[in-house]
Amino acid sequence: MADKPHQNLAIIGHVDHGKSTLVGRLLFETGSVPEHVIEQYREEAEEKGKGGFEFAYVMDNLAEERERGVTIDIAHQRFDTDKYYFTIVDTPGHRDFVKNMITGASQADHAVLVVAADDGVAPQTREHVFLSKTLGIETLIVAVNKMDTVDYSEETYKEVKAEVQKLLKQVRFDSDDARFIPISAFEGDNVAEHSENTPWYDGPTILEALNDLPEMSPPTDAPLRIPIQDVYTISGIGTVPVGRIETGVLKPGMNVVFMPSDVGGEVKTVEMHHEEVDEAGPGDNVGFNVRGVGKDDIRRGDVCGEASNPPKVAETFKAQIVVMQHPSVITVGYTPVLHAHTAQVACTFESIDQKLDPKTGEVAEENPDFIKAGDAAVVTLRPQKPLSIEPSGEIPELGSFAVRDMGQTIAAGKVLEVNER
Ligand code: GDP
Repeated sequence: MADKPHQNLAIIGHVDHGKSTLVGRLLFETGSVPEHVIEQYREEAEEKGKGGFEFAYVMDNLAEERERGVTIDIAHQRFDTDKYYFTIVDTPGHRDFVKNMITGASQADHAVLVVAADDGVAPQTREHVFLSKTLGIETLIVAVNKMDTVDYSEETYKEVKAEVQKLLKQVRFDSDDARFIPISAFEGDNVAEHSENTPWYDGPTILEALNDLPEMSPPTDAPLRIPIQDVYTISGIGTVPVGRIETGVLKPGMNVVFMPSDVGGEVKTVEMHHEEVDEAGPGDNVGFNVRGVGKDDIRRGDVCGEASNPPKVAETFKAQIVVMQHPSVITVGYTPVLHAHTAQVACTFESIDQKLDPKTGEVAEENPDFIKAGDAAVVTLRPQKPLSIEPSGEIPELGSFAVRDMGQTIAAGKVLEVNER
């Protein structure tokens, strides 16, 4: 399993359209629910006179255990297809979905958008599609779910498909790239096996479409960027910053610099899983040691890069944001906390430059007085402490952020331009 290329998958869509059910079905069909658990469910089902319907039991148990807040959580479940090994990253509705999606750990490459056939495009469908586009999801698979509730009607499927295609066009997803699949997550139609209930559909099943996703090439050619998670002192070695390599390659002998702390030196050793390595690349969690850099010189939120191509430090930066929720309105001077990679820095809205039409992405208003929930805008932000961040057009891994205030994610954004200090 570990030999297969890995894909991070997000499951998005309006509440109650069937995201959890689809995840349950995928885990069940790919044999990712351990055999002994299925066996236990089967026995329980038989005892209760409901023999032979293990799937319902998997779902009941997922729901029950989720309610109790323990063990199986649909976030971070794993399954594999012939070609790939998938991790399901946080699902929307999950409390920190947006924040996690933006700040690294669980950045998804692709998403399955679940749209219930009996409901069509709903508010969160729109919001999640918009957000996926903003956050750089590459490919969408659109599952038109609950086909059983509309008698597997081809006509209804086509109507929903047209509605979603219109939405994708509005947010500038290349809708030719999106695959549409009529399914019933509950009954299992077109998830793992082609359904007899949809003879008019000759495309792939969900698992086939997942297996056909493009392979993501790791960003080894990009400049080195390691957001620092923690800094340790280890006896016999000295100061050891640790973090996940987002882009580029780290090797002993390289000359690196930590920004915004602005200190650096030569890399002496690189460790992964407590072993010294000659080289580490994107996705690797590393600890390393740099000549002349002490524990108090650097901190969490710093970004390590090569001295010849140092991480940018922003005096101000321009960003495109989507306001997800805010009790009132956002005006110039608002100073929430920005979460970008491992950094958390208060940033002031210095100007609200343009309000965008969320339907077309075109400029709707220059210099608006305020923006509110549901708006998309181009804004200029001023970090209140030095912040290392990159234009998402250059290094997307270091170019997105979440805006948090009052314990909530207020907005998500990507950096358009950095005005360096
Ligand atoms: P989520 O909020 O998007 O995760 O939605 P859930 O997976 O919790 O599903 C919401 C409700 O729709 C549940 O009662 C499911 O049993 C039901 N549901 C999900 N998929 C299907 C389906 O394909 N057909 C039918 N009839 N019901 C479904």
